[in-house]
Amino acid sequence: MTDDTSLDPDLGALEARVARDLEDLCRPAADWVAKRSHEGRPVTDVVIVGGGMCGALAWHALAVHGIRDVRVFDRAEEGREGPWLTYARMETLRSPKHLTGPAFGMGALTFRAWFRAQFGEDAWEALDKIPRPMWMDYLMWYRRVLGVPVENGVAVERIAPAGPYLRLTLSGPGAPSDEIICRKLVMATGRDGTGGPNIPDFVGDLPRSRWAHSADDIDFAALKGRRVVVIGVGASAMDNAAEALEQGAAEVRFLVRRKEMPRINKMMGIGSPGFSCGYGALPDEWRWRFMRYSFVTQTPPPRGSTQRVSRHPNAYFHFGKGIAGLEPRGEGVRVRLSDGSALDTDFVVLGTGFTVDPMARTEFGPAADDIELWTHAYTPPPDERHADLANFPYLNRDFTFRPRRGRDADWLGHVYCYNYGATASQGKISGDIPGISTGATILAQALAARFYSEDVERHWQNLVDYDTPEILGDEYRDDPWPAAAEAETEVGR
Ligand SMILES: Cc1cc2nc3c(=O)[nH]c(=O)nc-3n(C[C@H](O)[C@H](O)[C@H](O)COP(=O)(O)OP(=O)(O)OC[C@H]3O[C@@H](n4cnc5c(N)ncnc54)[C@H](O)[C@@H]3O)c2cc1C
Repeated sequence: MTDDTSLDPDLGALEARVARDLEDLCRPAADWVAKRSHEGRPVTDVVIVGGGMCGALAWHALAVHGIRDVRVFDRAEEGREGPWLTYARMETLRSPKHLTGPAFGMGALTFRAWFRAQFGEDAWEALDKIPRPMWMDYLMWYRRVLGVPVENGVAVERIAPAGPYLRLTLSGPGAPSDEIICRKLVMATGRDGTGGPNIPDFVGDLPRSRWAHSADDIDFAALKGRRVVVIGVGASAMDNAAEALEQGAAEVRFLVRRKEMPRINKMMGIGSPGFSCGYGALPDEWRWRFMRYSFVTQTPPPRGSTQRVSRHPNAYFHFGKGIAGLEPRGEGVRVRLSDGSALDTDFVVLGTGFTVDPMARTEFGPAADDIELWTHAYTPPPDERHADLANFPYLNRDFTFRPRRGRDADWLGHVYCYNYGATASQGKISGDIPGISTGATILAQALAARFYSEDVERHWQNLVDYDTPEILGDEYRDDPWPAAAEAETEVGR
C-alpha cells in the first residue's frame, strides 16, 4: 500500500498541488470575450444561477475557457447550497467514493485527493461510502481552493429579454442591485431546477401541518410516538422514513403503488464515458427509448438506506397500494386507497420526487409556456408514451432552451439549462456526480464558441489590427541574389 503521507501530507500540500496544477495547465485562461454595454451599463458575460456543485463546476469550466466575467448567485446562505445539509437525509451518498465528479480533469481536485490529504490512505481504503455532510465539506473546499465567487443570499426572481441581452431581477440580502443585465444565463438550479416538488392531486386540501414533501424542512422530533405514512419507495422516501423511525415514530408504513420493489439500478449499470458523451447526440427515438425505460423501471433505493429502515420492527412495506385521496380525520389523516380500503395515520410524508415542469418555475414568469418541450418536438410510438418525460424541455445540444414553434421568444436561446431538466435531452450530465464534468465541458465549449461567433466582426478586426511583430527584422538579412543563379537563368533563356 502507498504511504499516503508521502503523497499528500496535509491539506495545505494538496492546495499547493492544486495551485501548481492550475499553473502548469495555464488555468484559468485569459479573458478574451468582447465586453458589451446596454443602456450605459456594463453587461455581465455570464450569470450562473446556483452555487451548488454544478454552479461551482460551471464557473471553473468557463474560467478554463477564458470566460471570466461570470457571476454566481445563490439564494441560500453560504454552506447551505443544494440538498446536502438541508433536505438530504441519507447517511452516505449512493455514488461510489472514487467518482471524480466536478474535478474537471484534475486529480488534485477529486474527493479522493481531498480525503486522503486529511485522513490518509488507510482511512481511504476503509471508507465504504462518502458520508453526506463530508460531501458538502468537500464541495466547500472545492469552491474555496478554486476561488469560486459565489454571491449568497441572492435570488434570481425573474428572467426577461433586454434587447439582445437578458435582464435579471434580483432579491435577497446579498443582492448587489435590483437587476443586472447579462449576455448568457446558466441555470445550475439543481434537482428541482426546471420544476419543483411533486405534490400529487390526491393531497387535496389536507391541512399543511399533517403532511410534508421529502424536500421540506420536517420536524422529525415532533413525530415521536406518532404513526407515519410514507408514500413512495425511492431513495428520499427511504431516508425520510429512517429519520422518522430513528426519532421514535410509533410506526412507519410505506404505501407503494407498484407491485414490487424496483431492484436494479439500470442507469448505473450502463454508465460510461460513451453514454455521457453519446446520449445527447442520439436521434430522438433512441433518447426517448433509453430515458423512458429508465423512468419506467425506476431507480431502487440504495441497499444501505433500505436496511437502515428495515432494521426497525415498526417499519412496514405495502406494495400495490395506489392512493385515492388524503382526508383529515380527527387530529390525523385518513388515507383512502384505490382498492377501496383506508388507513388512518398521524402524518404523511410524500416521497414522490420532483416534477420537471418549466411552468412550475417562477423565474420565467408566463414565458415558461414558450419553452419547447419534448411533447411539442417528438411523438413516441403509442406503447412508449410517458407523460412525465414529455414535459421535459427539448433542449439544443448546447443546453439552451428552444422557443416553441410560433412563439416570439428567441431570447430563451440565451438561457442554458444545466440542471436535472436537461436529462431527457442530454442524459445524465447535468446533476448526478458521475457525468457532470462531461456536461461542464460541453457547456463551456458551447459558450466559448457562441461568444466567438457572436463577436466575429470584432475578432476579425482584432486580427486585422494586430500589429505586434514576432520577427523584429534583426533576425535575418535580405540577401542579394547570387550571380551564378543569374547566369544560369540567362543560359536557360
Ligand atoms: C436528496 C438527494 C440526494 C442525492 N444523492 C446523490 C448521490 O448520492 N449521487 C449523485 O450522483 N447524485 C445525487 N443527487 C443528485 C445531485 O447530485 C444533486 O441534486 C446535486 O445537488 C446537484 O447539484 P446542483 O449544483 O446541480 O444542484 P444543487 O446542489 O441543488 O444547487 C442548486 C442551487 O441553486 C440555487 N437556486 C435555485 N434557484 C435559484 C434562484 N432562482 N436564485 C438563486 N439561487 C437559486 C439553490 O439555492 C441551490 O443551492 C442527489 C440529489 C438529492 C436531491
